[in-house]
Amino acid sequence: MRGLVTKSTGSWYLVLGEDGTRVECRIKGKFRTKGIKTTNPIAVGDWVNYEQEPDQDSAVITELEPRKNYIIRRSVNLSKQTQIIGANLDQAMLVVTLASPPTSLGFIDRFLVTAEAYSIPAILVFNKLDLFSEEGLDVLADYMAIYEQIGYPCLAVSAQDGTHVDAIRSMLKDKITLVSGHSGVGKSTLINSIEPAAALRTGKISDWSDKGKHTTTFAEMIDLSFGGKLIDTPGIRELGIVDIEKNELSHFFPEMRERLNECRFHNCRHINEPGCVILEAVDHAEIESSRYESYLSIYHNQETRN
Ligand code: GDP
Repeated sequence: MRGLVTKSTGSWYLVLGEDGTRVECRIKGKFRTKGIKTTNPIAVGDWVNYEQEPDQDSAVITELEPRKNYIIRRSVNLSKQTQIIGANLDQAMLVVTLASPPTSLGFIDRFLVTAEAYSIPAILVFNKLDLFSEEGLDVLADYMAIYEQIGYPCLAVSAQDGTHVDAIRSMLKDKITLVSGHSGVGKSTLINSIEPAAALRTGKISDWSDKGKHTTTFAEMIDLSFGGKLIDTPGIRELGIVDIEKNELSHFFPEMRERLNECRFHNCRHINEPGCVILEAVDHAEIESSRYESYLSIYHNQETRN
């Protein structure tokens, strides 16, 4: 049988078979993701083959189909273990708020770098539009301009009163989208507003863990009635930058990437080199200083890690 993994705890997987039935699966044998050691060898979004276990209502995953892409996250502790968060993604959507709680530009930039590193198109959704004052709206427009200029679609919405939620739906239609965001930004409210049927799933999650089948769900796929699927990541606060070589980092900033060929030195770090077009563009405000600061911060962070 062939099916799509729609939920995972790291040891149990819920698979939607091509015949439309859902079955809980374990894994048999070793599944390796080339080059990385992961705590969950199979992820939400994976296509797998599975076999029913004799005399039981569960099944065993026997084969993992090659992935179009996947996104991973390094755990916050120093164990260097990584989790695969989602596979076969068409795009990633980050929900942010400027206030209550504030999402830092550094956080947004780290998310975007991660998405770039996996060649996954990213969308930014600024939530809680109903809370903005006149001045707040100006700041919001500035923030959105920073990201729109460099090619990331941005939407300002209110999950609470439904403003512009239709615009999100049209961006999600017929795509597999990973949804991420700091806790408190309204990600759950937004998902329920996009797809009211999703509100019902909360009960289902606890049913599942009540069976003693382990810990937190770290990702779950939600069917969109208008076409497409969301991958929600309830247990995940931040994606975190994985193993990006610091000298490749500038490739993951679109506004730097398009200028790289013009630097005098081909191995320019864009920190203090003469003839660096990136520094020049920052000076001329052609590259946003907050983006450049994020570049430096990630660069130095990777330096201490490597
Ligand atoms: P999550 O942690 O990102 O899933 O956030 P929740 O969906 O639980 O929302 C956190 C809080 O923000 C709740 O009190 C929501 O009612 C509130 N909230 C969510 N969306 C909006 C919005 O668009 N406007 C306002 N004013 N509050 C919102």
